[in-house]
Amino acid sequence: MKAAWAAVVGRPVSHSLSPLIFKAFSRETGRPVRHYALTLGPESLEAALRSARRRPWTGWNVTLPLKVEIMRRLDSLDEAARETGAVNAVRFHEGSCFGYNTDLEGFLAPLDKLGFAAGVKRAAVLGAGGAARAVCAALRRRGAGALWVLGRSPERARALAGDFKARWAPLAERESLEALAYADLVVNATSAGLDGKSCPLPEGFRLRSEALAYDLVYRPADTPFLRAARGAGARTLGGLGMLVAQAAAAWRIWFGEALSERVVEKVEEEVGRHNL
Ligand code: NAP
Repeated sequence: MKAAWAAVVGRPVSHSLSPLIFKAFSRETGRPVRHYALTLGPESLEAALRSARRRPWTGWNVTLPLKVEIMRRLDSLDEAARETGAVNAVRFHEGSCFGYNTDLEGFLAPLDKLGFAAGVKRAAVLGAGGAARAVCAALRRRGAGALWVLGRSPERARALAGDFKARWAPLAERESLEALAYADLVVNATSAGLDGKSCPLPEGFRLRSEALAYDLVYRPADTPFLRAARGAGARTLGGLGMLVAQAAAAWRIWFGEALSERVVEKVEEEVGRHNL
């Protein structure tokens, strides 16, 4: 079988774990795939897509800063991409390119594994960017009860909450502390913590002991948010499971073949060792 071509595109991509994940999927399934990391900015996107349509690409994983910019250049978008206003996976087929957002599915997969997603009554989502939008869409799909968006920038938090019939509050204010204290799911969808130091939780926060604190940041593996939530007595979940699950969803879209749970778990373990 000839090797399929795939790549993660964006800027920067040198730190991306995608090539490692897709190489591991390829090894585990025996399907030959070459997965590259291609540095690509918005200024070169149109030309790169034009060229890609003529070449035997199977798919791209799309990362910052292209997730929104790429949308208007594709031939069609799936429902999740339309709902979240962002594309993180592209499939090429006979000169056409189709956009998907696999973050919704990726976010829900680890929650489903814990038997958590279906029963969320009160969720607090920290952040108001692209990932927070995917989280809100996913939680709404699963019928979450009360949904709060807690944001650093009030305008962005208000706009996101408006799109998902959620309530919102500025992160530093009392209402945020209340939303956190009552939530059974608290999601860090901010980029705070990537530096290993910043924690987005406001001073004086409390969490319920049954609450699950879920950090989408996966590097470092033990983030300041996870440490703070653990210190407050909550259960915790890191972002690596989501990363591998959204990649597994892209694999299924590209090759029409779902990966087994065993493969996904094995690859998550392997990537986890690399991510230490
Ligand atoms: P984004 O669109 O740039 O949004 C980042 C959000 O974080 C913004 O709302 C920003 O606030 C907020 N923020 C940044 N620093 C903050 C701080 N110190 N305190 C409070 N809020 C802060 O980024 P994104 O695409 O949504 O991604 C967010 C995070 O999710 C990233 O770390 C990314 O790696 C992670 N992620 C993980 C996965 C996965 O598979 N595990 C998938 C997608 C994303 P303002 O609104 O004030 O700018």
